[in-house]
Amino acid sequence: MQTFDVVVIGGGPAGEVAAGRLGGEGLEVALVERELVGGECSYWACMPSKALLRPAEALAEIDRIPGAREAVTGSLDVTSTLRRRDEVIHDLDDSSQLPWLEDNDVTLIRGEARITGERRVEVGEDVLEARKAVIVATGTHASLPPIDGLAEAEPWTNRELTTTKRIPESIVIVGAGVVGVEMAQAYATLGARVTLIEPEDRILMREEPFAAEQVTESLRERGVDIRLDAGIQSVKRESGAVAVTLDGGDVVVAEQIGVAAGRRSNTAAVEPLGYEAGKPVEVDEHMVSKRFDWLYAIGDLNGEVLLTHMGKYQAAIASEHIAGRTYDLPHNADGPLSPRVIFTDPQVAAVGHTEKSARDAGLDIEIVEVETSGNAGGSFYGRGAPGTARMIVDNDRRVVVGATVTGADVSDFIHPFTIAIVAEVPMERLWHAVPCFPTRSELWLRLLESYRSR
Ligand SMILES: Cc1cc2nc3c(=O)[nH]c(=O)nc-3n(C[C@H](O)[C@H](O)[C@H](O)COP(=O)(O)OP(=O)(O)OC[C@H]3O[C@@H](n4cnc5c(N)ncnc54)[C@H](O)[C@@H]3O)c2cc1C
Repeated sequence: MQTFDVVVIGGGPAGEVAAGRLGGEGLEVALVERELVGGECSYWACMPSKALLRPAEALAEIDRIPGAREAVTGSLDVTSTLRRRDEVIHDLDDSSQLPWLEDNDVTLIRGEARITGERRVEVGEDVLEARKAVIVATGTHASLPPIDGLAEAEPWTNRELTTTKRIPESIVIVGAGVVGVEMAQAYATLGARVTLIEPEDRILMREEPFAAEQVTESLRERGVDIRLDAGIQSVKRESGAVAVTLDGGDVVVAEQIGVAAGRRSNTAAVEPLGYEAGKPVEVDEHMVSKRFDWLYAIGDLNGEVLLTHMGKYQAAIASEHIAGRTYDLPHNADGPLSPRVIFTDPQVAAVGHTEKSARDAGLDIEIVEVETSGNAGGSFYGRGAPGTARMIVDNDRRVVVGATVTGADVSDFIHPFTIAIVAEVPMERLWHAVPCFPTRSELWLRLLESYRSR
């Protein structure tokens, strides 16, 4: 039996941050990881997907800049893109992640962990005991919708979609949420004929309709066949092709099928405690599980919000709580209101409420909207590309409660909105945060002017 202050299970972004933070504070910490330190995000999710998207995005931007455009005479190089993706995911080798753990005195234990009793974790033959707490950060895996023949067709999940060594000639992607839409764009720009199938009447259901419309248009321009309101009746793989029969009887045939239709929690570690397979481990605002006061669940596993940065934030909340300190919680940019970016072209960056969620929450709101590139700074970026910046203001409190910015390369635009929301900066005060000229951040001036004129 080995004893630590804290045992962290799962070395994805959330678990890594929790282990490193607590280790850095001088606690004795063990981190148990069954695959690769860095988790889904580093190897099969955030990082490889962005590596697949970025070259085409850069080319599209260059194409919008006369002078630079003429210098690019070739087309996107698929081999180099895939090679760069492999560099980004370190060829599925996690050795570069280990020095940080060592620097923070974290003991790494390789293997599958199971919690078999109060503060007791088994990893193969080893038994680990935690004096203070066990943090579970075991993430999620792709969920397969119960469609006739789908499992037998051996569909690609995010793992194969992000690490493939060859771009298929054609692919059907099931689900037009963030992952499906990003993968549709990546595969289309890498030369595949893509069909994107979505049962709802639009893509990106959780975001503003205008954002979904702009991304839909751009995907269609790139040749993606988007089928909306499309239920799938059955899937069949035969002689090297997959046939997908839609509810109306249409059949889409492609070389490959990928599924991006939600996630299920990785619960093997907590099932001995009575947790249900595949279901989130529910937590309070300090990430303490609702059932055991010594058990914390952070990251995707608790189902609060499936984003790396929020998992890392939850790791900080849990670590503070274990160290006997507490954060000032809750605030207005967490859970479904968390900052988020969809890395399509145009990108969609959002934080806080959409119009619908604000109205559903009963807020009295003002909505102001400007063109993302409708200022001097916009002369140099995203020329001719669609782009809208929408800000939602709570009329009662006179603070920003939501923002969505679409356009070329706008992912970094959302952070000032996040600060405004979390710090609840009064609208009158925002005037004194002066954006530089000529930057696209001047969209703030236009938004504030538009709000003042109401
Ligand atoms: C294609 C795709 C793209 C994405 N892009 C983004 C993005 O751009 N930005 C963003 O913020 N989010 C993105 N996400 C979401 C992001 O990947 C997750 O939110 C993030 O990985 C969650 O981190 P985590 O630490 O909770 O879990 P994970 O990253 O899933 O890590 C969990 C770790 O726990 C380990 N583990 C599981 N069970 C056990 C066990 N019993 N014993 C030991 N170890 C165990 C696993 O091996 C894994 O390493 C994307 C997701 C997908 C699918």
